[in-house]
Amino acid sequence: MANCSGCSAPLPTDSITCEYCGSRNDVDLKNIHYYTTHQCESKRTCPRCELPLITIDLKLNGTFLIERCDDCLGLFFDPNELETLLEVTVTNVFTIDKGRLDNTSPLNKNEYSAIYIKCPVCYKIMNRVNFGIKSGVIVDRCKEHGVWLDGGELRNLFEWMKAGGKLLQQEREEQQKKEDQREQDRLKRAAQMQTDAVGVREDVPFTLFGSTLRNSDPDLFEIVQTAIRFFTR
Ligand SMILES: [Zn+2]
Ligand SMILES: [Zn+2]
Ligand SMILES: [Zn+2]
Repeated sequence: MANCSGCSAPLPTDSITCEYCGSRNDVDLKNIHYYTTHQCESKRTCPRCELPLITIDLKLNGTFLIERCDDCLGLFFDPNELETLLEVTVTNVFTIDKGRLDNTSPLNKNEYSAIYIKCPVCYKIMNRVNFGIKSGVIVDRCKEHGVWLDGGELRNLFEWMKAGGKLLQQEREEQQKKEDQREQDRLKRAAQMQTDAVGVREDVPFTLFGSTLRNSDPDLFEIVQTAIRFFTR
């Protein structure tokens, strides 16, 4: 649970604005020990405030640039950067805390609710997608250019990672894979049974040049071989 930097009151998990003193809290980059702001501003603008986004180097595994709005504290990640940041920042989680995951804030409760916003790169309306399973975070995603997180959402994703949300997601994906495999096997068996059912009628031993063929539907090679055997006897 994070506390307000202004009055120390506990911050609600679904917001970065303190309910007591009203100050806006910068909670997202607290987990990151060191980062620098680049001098050059990016040409991209905040989809909420339309102010220029500031480029930030998180210095993870070398240079790791993301963009941030100084006003609303929203963050823009290029494709896969967010996943990388979560994996690099939250490690050594081996258990799934189901209780904690069940108590993640309900979807859609942040201060912007369900307003669709434009991608800072191509200005197309972004999709709103649930991040992972039970993260309680809906991110705005442009398939081509990346993901927008509103202020506070990154903190929620860190919490989700710590509670084993990623593990739960992997578990579910494994389960899904197994179920898909079972379903495929079932379909294959069903198809096989149909073939077999049709085959019963034809599977009467078949005699050719005095030899009984096991295969009721011999191919040319088999016929020729049987003929050769017959004539060279
Ligand atoms: Zn406060
Ligand atoms: Zn903004
Ligand atoms: Zn885009």
